[in-house]
Amino acid sequence: MEPVPSNTFVIKIAEHCNLDCDYCYMYNGADLSFKSRPRVLGPNTEQALLSALQEHLKDTRLDRLNIFLHGGEPLLFGKKRFSKLAKTLRKQLYCDLHLSVQTNGLLIDSEWIDIFLQNKISVCLSCDGPQHIHDAHRHFTNGAGSYEQTLEAIQCVTKEATYQGLKYSGIISVANASISGDEYYSWIKEVIHPPRFDVLLPDADWESPYQNPNILIDYYLSMFESWWSDRPDEIRMTFFESIISTILDTPSHAENFGGFSASTIIIETDGSIHPHDVFRIRVPLSADPTDNIFVGENKISDINNNHLYKIAAERFELDDAFIQRRLGVKCMDCKIINKCRGGFVAHRYSRQNEYRNESVYCDLLYSLYHTIKHALDLHRSNDHLPIEATQY
Ligand code: SF4
Repeated sequence: MEPVPSNTFVIKIAEHCNLDCDYCYMYNGADLSFKSRPRVLGPNTEQALLSALQEHLKDTRLDRLNIFLHGGEPLLFGKKRFSKLAKTLRKQLYCDLHLSVQTNGLLIDSEWIDIFLQNKISVCLSCDGPQHIHDAHRHFTNGAGSYEQTLEAIQCVTKEATYQGLKYSGIISVANASISGDEYYSWIKEVIHPPRFDVLLPDADWESPYQNPNILIDYYLSMFESWWSDRPDEIRMTFFESIISTILDTPSHAENFGGFSASTIIIETDGSIHPHDVFRIRVPLSADPTDNIFVGENKISDINNNHLYKIAAERFELDDAFIQRRLGVKCMDCKIINKCRGGFVAHRYSRQNEYRNESVYCDLLYSLYHTIKHALDLHRSNDHLPIEATQY
């Protein structure tokens, strides 16, 4: 079956970064192809990309695109070119265009804020937690931590969102169980107070599982307890809300629970078109011969022939044939298969079965699902209140 046409693109406008985070799949994973690509998106590639996106809109009749300007560190693209690119995308793509930037924030100043405001660009910042947690992994090449500069950027974006209407989509962290989830939630609430946050599961699969999964389970459970007991003042949290959505039978739009297809398409600075780059944790680009298509030479839909893209973007079907083809034996007998749907595809990898496994975070997903379901059931029976799906 052909995948649903993707409306989500990550455009790598700068291939390098001003930080050297030790968990970065781009610089410290299996794939080192960034070394052979241009440091920034070239003007000719930019033009070819625009034409390819216009053609994609025409062919698919999509009326909405989500474009994430990404890197490396995307602000290293430079203010002039960034601003011109954003204006051109707004002018030449006839659709409901959601433009976002995912940045470490270190270069943000008043001129960048003006560029974001003028082009209605939503800003999402990366920060991992209190200083000792953040600095342990998100550091400069000389080993110095980046927390203080990141915090300044967050404060600047928060102020501009409050007074100038800057679109601020929130904070993304990578889970670090050196503190409890409760402590993390207190920090995000009291120090950062973003409109939304998400705490990503660390990159892991069956070849390289997370060292201490039980600690991670406790971490997420205690974060959920704090978050849930904070209602109605809780800060929106993508992962927990995606689990609530699936319990309430509304579609989850997150990739790590609920079988939402990982159909995001990556465009690199050389114009090459790829499936979700989280696959590069394990599989270098050069290992896949179908990973050799470019804007200007190919249609974006040619990605449908890519082996990994087929796996990532296939729509979830609750039937034995699909489960046998795409998930693990354990998933077949799982009581929550119709909710979890095997978790995030990249977390299922093993050399032996490729992606035909349960998630390496299976126990965590199972525990979180039951804890959240229990909390929802209690809420309904104690307060006699429905939890509206639209709330999440
Ligand atoms: S909880 Fe585990 S076994 Fe069940 S569907 Fe999710 S990954 Fe598969």
